[in-house]
Amino acid sequence: MADEANSFRRRSFKVIDPDARLRDQDNLMAYVRNPDAHGNNQFRTIPKDAVVNIDQVRSVNRGVDGPLLFGHAVDANGNPIGWTSTRNFEGKFVNETLAEMPPEGTDKKGANAAWAGGKFLRQVTLVPIVGARLQLLYLALDTVTPYFELVRAAAAEGVTVGINSGFRTWREQKQLYDGYKRSLPGYNMAAEPGRSKHQNGIAFDIDVPGGAGNPCYDWLAINATRFGFLRTVNKEPWHWEYDPVQAQAAQAAGTFKLERVLI
Ligand SMILES: [Zn+2]
Repeated sequence: MADEANSFRRRSFKVIDPDARLRDQDNLMAYVRNPDAHGNNQFRTIPKDAVVNIDQVRSVNRGVDGPLLFGHAVDANGNPIGWTSTRNFEGKFVNETLAEMPPEGTDKKGANAAWAGGKFLRQVTLVPIVGARLQLLYLALDTVTPYFELVRAAAAEGVTVGINSGFRTWREQKQLYDGYKRSLPGYNMAAEPGRSKHQNGIAFDIDVPGGAGNPCYDWLAINATRFGFLRTVNKEPWHWEYDPVQAQAAQAAGTFKLERVLI
C-alpha cells in the first residue's frame, strides 16, 4: 500500500497554463524574473505543453484558504527546471498523494488519532492527497489502495472522482461541529468530535454536486460496491464509506446504500 504515497514521482505532467511562472526556491510566493535586453524584468515560465517530471513537492500555508502546492519540475534527464504551482499542470494535481505521515506520539486527540463511536481506536498512518477543489486532505493508509482502484476504474470510463473530505483529525471535526452548532455560514450538519466516520478513516466525501444525475454519482451508484464503497448517510449523496462487508451485502441486495439511506 505504501507505493500509493508520493504518486507524483511516478508520472510526468503536461503544462497547460500558458503562463506557468517559475517561483523563487527560497520564497515560493515570489516569481523568478530575468531582465530582458531592454532591462525590463520578465517572468520566467515553463512553456505550455512542455512535459516535465516532478521530484519534490512543497506546500505553503495561506491560512484560511489552505495550503498552495508547488512542484519542482525537472526535464526527462533529471535536469532542474524550477519550482511552479501544481495548478499549472494538466489535472491540477487532483488525487496526487504526498509522503506518508506516520503517527507521532500517543496523543489521543493528535493528528493521527482515529476515533469511532466516541472512543479512541488507534494511531493511523495518513497519506496526504489533493482534493477535488485542490485542498490538501488526508486518507488513512489502509483505504488508499481501494480508493485508487475505484478512481482508476472510473477514469478508464472517462469519469473523474475526487474528494472534498477524507480522514479528519479531532481538531478538524471539533471545528466543523462548533461551526454547525453555532449555525455559522458554510457549515453543514457535523457529528460530535470522536463520533464522525471521517475520524476512523473509512469515510470519503466524494465531489458529486447535485447527487443523482451527476456523472460521477451515477457511476458510483453502479460501480462503487465492487470496490468496497457504499452510501451510508441519508440526504448526503457525497458521503461514501469504505466498508467491504456492507458493500458486498448491498451489492447482493441490488443496491449501493444502507437501508436507512432513503434519499
Ligand atoms: Zn462525510
